[in-house]
Amino acid sequence: MPRYIGRFAPTPSGPLHLGSLYTAVASYLDARANNGLWLLRIEDIDPPREQPGASDAIIACLSQHGLLWDGDILYQSRRSKAYDQAIALLQAAGHCFYCDCSRKQLAHCQGEYSGHCRHRQLTDNGKRALRLRTDTPINCDFDDRLQGHQQLPPAPAGCCHDFVIRRRDGLYAYQLAVVVDDIAQGVTDVVRGSDILDSTFRQAWLYHYLGQPRPAWLHLPVLTGSNGQKLSKQNLAEAVDDNHPADNLRTVLRLLRQPAPPADCRQPGSILAWAAQCWQPQRLPRRLSVPLDDRCS
Ligand code: GLU
Ligand code: ZN
Repeated sequence: MPRYIGRFAPTPSGPLHLGSLYTAVASYLDARANNGLWLLRIEDIDPPREQPGASDAIIACLSQHGLLWDGDILYQSRRSKAYDQAIALLQAAGHCFYCDCSRKQLAHCQGEYSGHCRHRQLTDNGKRALRLRTDTPINCDFDDRLQGHQQLPPAPAGCCHDFVIRRRDGLYAYQLAVVVDDIAQGVTDVVRGSDILDSTFRQAWLYHYLGQPRPAWLHLPVLTGSNGQKLSKQNLAEAVDDNHPADNLRTVLRLLRQPAPPADCRQPGSILAWAAQCWQPQRLPRRLSVPLDDRCS
């Protein structure tokens, strides 16, 4: 087994934009600089959010940029059996309960949970969410490789952290799928956007209950547009132009505050090989967001 296994795990809700290329390049370089594997996983477990053709567009964009992954692509849409097995394990150990609370009932918990159904012993009627209990006192704080020590903020008064692992519509929650797959793929190092920083505490709970060691986490800043908003498919960030991969890689390297590759490095593959040799994670911006027009390098 290699000592380092990293991955890139895009949701195919649209083509890659510069913000997702930024994450892909950083996770790729961190893996290659550590002589590690870099896996590709398509997180297509939420059909309503997906855009037809987006998975193929993402895969083509990565290839055009020389971001070549190891092994086969893992599609989460083909992993139901593994997710069901994990759920069965968690249920058998008494860590789950069904919940029929509406969003309105939970509004005062600001994304956390009221605890209302924890002891109601509801059964599955095909219309209830499955939540994980978080009343076991475990330490889910972690040391982020870039952002430093992270402490779980307390839930609002009268609320708790119990979170959904299978939604009321029957779809698996991101938290569950990502942990089950990172475990199954032997991922040791997760490099991703800081928009997921808060989710990481929930994932730490799943690692604990599933009896598996956590990976190391590094949460990069997210790129923001001129309006200060995160580049995302929701706010229609422009797709990366596959016709200029070398320019895109240079832009991303500048935003990652890495040294600029020499001018005679023209092919994406040679730019990446050079950048992997010179990779300095300690130079990454230690912020939660970085504007696209950041001139500081
Ligand atoms: N699928 C998630 C996204 O595209 C990333 C998940 C992860 O890296 O853990 O935002
Ligand atoms: Zn409930």
